[in-house]
Amino acid sequence: MVDYYTILGVNKNASNEDIKKAYRKLAHQYHPDKGGDSEKFKQISEAYQVLSNQEKRAQYDKYGRVFEGNSNAGAGAGQGGFNGAGFDFNGFDFGNFDLGDIFGDVFGFGGGKGKSKAKNRGDDIEIEIKLDLKDVLTGLKKNIFLSKMVNCKRCNGTGGEPNTKVKECFTCRGEGEVQELRKTMFGQVSRFVVCPECKGQGKIPEKPCNVCSGEGRIKEDQKIELNIPSGVDSGQVLKMEGAGDAGIRGGEAGDLYIRMLVKNHPVFQRKGDDLITEKEIAFSQAALGGEIDIKTLDDKSISLKIPSGLQTGKVFKISGKGITHFNSWGKGNLFVKLNIKTPEKLNKKQKDLLEQLKKEGI
Ligand SMILES: [Zn+2]
Ligand SMILES: [Zn+2]
Repeated sequence: MVDYYTILGVNKNASNEDIKKAYRKLAHQYHPDKGGDSEKFKQISEAYQVLSNQEKRAQYDKYGRVFEGNSNAGAGAGQGGFNGAGFDFNGFDFGNFDLGDIFGDVFGFGGGKGKSKAKNRGDDIEIEIKLDLKDVLTGLKKNIFLSKMVNCKRCNGTGGEPNTKVKECFTCRGEGEVQELRKTMFGQVSRFVVCPECKGQGKIPEKPCNVCSGEGRIKEDQKIELNIPSGVDSGQVLKMEGAGDAGIRGGEAGDLYIRMLVKNHPVFQRKGDDLITEKEIAFSQAALGGEIDIKTLDDKSISLKIPSGLQTGKVFKISGKGITHFNSWGKGNLFVKLNIKTPEKLNKKQKDLLEQLKKEGI
C-alpha cells in the first residue's frame, strides 16, 4: 500500500488546507462519474479520510495504516477499498462517519492503537525525552527508570503459583472468547470479545500466582538504556520494540515510543541540520580583516578568515560544522553572522586615535 501522503502528493508537514486542496484536485481528476480510475479514487478518498482528521493523522504518522489486516475480521479491508465485507461504499460520501468506529464495532477491528492487537499483548508506552542541542550533535546514551508492567518473576509470566495445574476457563469454556450482543447502526450485531476471565487464554491456573494475582506481570520501575542517535529533531519519535508493557501471561510485550524534544540553545539556532550563530567583531577588525575565533557547538574553537573592509551583517558559511544528518551521510553547515560593534566607552588614547581617523574621513 502506498503511503497516504504520496497518494495525495503532499509532504508530511502539509497543512490541513494543503491536504484539502490536494484532495479536491485529485478527487475531481479521478472521480469515476467523470470516467476516472475508480481504484485510484478509492485510494485518494481513503488517504483523505485519515489525513484530514487530526487524531487519525497523528495515529497514522505514528503507527501506519489503521485498517491493516486483522485476524478476527476476515473482511479483506487491508487491501484498499472497504467493500470486502459485502457493504458497498462506492459512493464514498463518508460524511462524518468514523470508519474506525464502525468497523471496530461490527467486525471487531482493533480500533485505538491502529494495529491489530493480540489479546494478551502488552500496551505501547510513549515517553518524551528532553535533549540539549549539544546532545543532538553527538547522540545520547541515557538510563531512565520507567514504571511499567514487567514479567512476574515468581510465576515466570505464567500467572500460576509454581507447580499449580492449569484448568479450562469456566466463563468461556476454553474458547478464550465470549459472545456479546450490541446495537449498532446496522441493527443488532453479535460479536466475539476477549474473555474477561482468562484474558483470551482459554485456560487459567488453578492457583493464581500470589505476587501477580494470575496476570503474569506486575508493575515495576525498570531501568531502560536509551540510545538516541545523533541528528534527531523535536517531534521525532523513535521506537524501541518490545520495551513497552509486558504482555498478559507471557504475551508479546508492547513497544516503547520515545518522542524527542530538543531544547533551544542560547547561542546556536537550529534550522534543519544547519546551525546559525552571530558574533560581534570590532570595527578595526572588520576594516583590516584577518582571522577571528569562532566557538562551535561542541565548544571547540575554529578560526575564520575575514577579508578587509567587511560590512556588518555579513554571513559566513563553515561547511560541515552543523548537525549530523539523521537519514543520510554527512553534516549540515554552520552559518556565522558577523556584526560590527561600535565601542560604547573609550579611553583617552582610543578617543585620540578615533579623532585622527575622523580627520582622515574614516
Ligand atoms: Zn506471578
Ligand atoms: Zn475464559
